[in-house]
Amino acid sequence: MILPKSNQFTTEQLREVTGIVKEFSCTIQPIIGAARTIYAIVGDEREELMINRLEGLAYVERIDRIQSQFKLMDKRSDLSTHRIKIGGVTLGEELFIIAGQCTIDPKNPQLFIETAHAVKEAGANSLRGGVWKPRTNPYTFQGDSKSLDILMEAARQTGLPVDAEVMDETHLELALSAGVHMLQIGARNALNYSLLRAVGKAVAKKDTVVLLKRSIHMGPISEFISAAEYIAAFGNPNVILCPRGTTPTLDGYRNHPDESITPLLKEKTWAPVVVDPSHSVGKAVYVPSCALAAVAYGADGLCIETHISPSKGIGDDPKQALTPKVLAETIVQAKALWKLRHPVQAA
Ligand code: PEP
Ligand code: MN
Repeated sequence: MILPKSNQFTTEQLREVTGIVKEFSCTIQPIIGAARTIYAIVGDEREELMINRLEGLAYVERIDRIQSQFKLMDKRSDLSTHRIKIGGVTLGEELFIIAGQCTIDPKNPQLFIETAHAVKEAGANSLRGGVWKPRTNPYTFQGDSKSLDILMEAARQTGLPVDAEVMDETHLELALSAGVHMLQIGARNALNYSLLRAVGKAVAKKDTVVLLKRSIHMGPISEFISAAEYIAAFGNPNVILCPRGTTPTLDGYRNHPDESITPLLKEKTWAPVVVDPSHSVGKAVYVPSCALAAVAYGADGLCIETHISPSKGIGDDPKQALTPKVLAETIVQAKALWKLRHPVQAA
């Protein structure tokens, strides 16, 4: 919909506007109001270049898009009934829990194996384990490809599907050939369009799921959904959106808890939302409250860092990992709350 700066376009302006939209196989339909005429674009109005050219005209006040820019991830797209299934759970039908260590310690594989069994026992549906780590400080442990074997051994022993972050195409290749079920795109790479494209291509038409974290630097909600659209556009719509805290931080929390974004996302996209309370608040003592808040806001799942013995962990685990006992209690409470919010599914 084109809104002119004046009450209506002059004949010359209307000719120019009509000429532009015609290049993109669209037509113009004036809608004459009492005081002002507005101009509907009839046809596929998602062409970015067409909109940019119209917005560049001095006599155009603004363009209101009627059609969504998300061809696949929009709530009203053909994929709106698509459901993601992993770990025996269809997202949206019951609360989905990912749990496990921030970082796998390649020198202590047994710790991860014990964590894996413990999170399964606590009720997790999927296991997380950081193989390669995006660390702010270049002198800290950066991860180790050897941990991939430990992750897959834990998957084999527990039968849980596993989630691991990939930061580049080498990781992507290694993770896929090892059989990782869920690829995590971290907060630092959520705006790395080359990586999003590469992941989309690599998992096209596969069952692999992508857990897309919300970037600390993401602006509007549309930026988050657009990042998911990149992956879906290459043929894999199994994208889960994962808010994980953003900036500016609240004094005391690691990031600004952003679980309240969930209802806004759900107005625009059919994609499931799995909230990561661990990186959001960044301290084990705050994680259960944040997890419950996320479920209250409508999250379809939670991704919670958990360690069999947090003080023996590396990476984020000593400060923000839950013990399996606290994880189990949190899952019970979160599931009860989820059932209150979804009485139909719970029945
Ligand atoms: C993580 O999951 O351990 C991690 C580094 O997450 P994020 O990208 O959200 O910081
Ligand atoms: Mn972490």
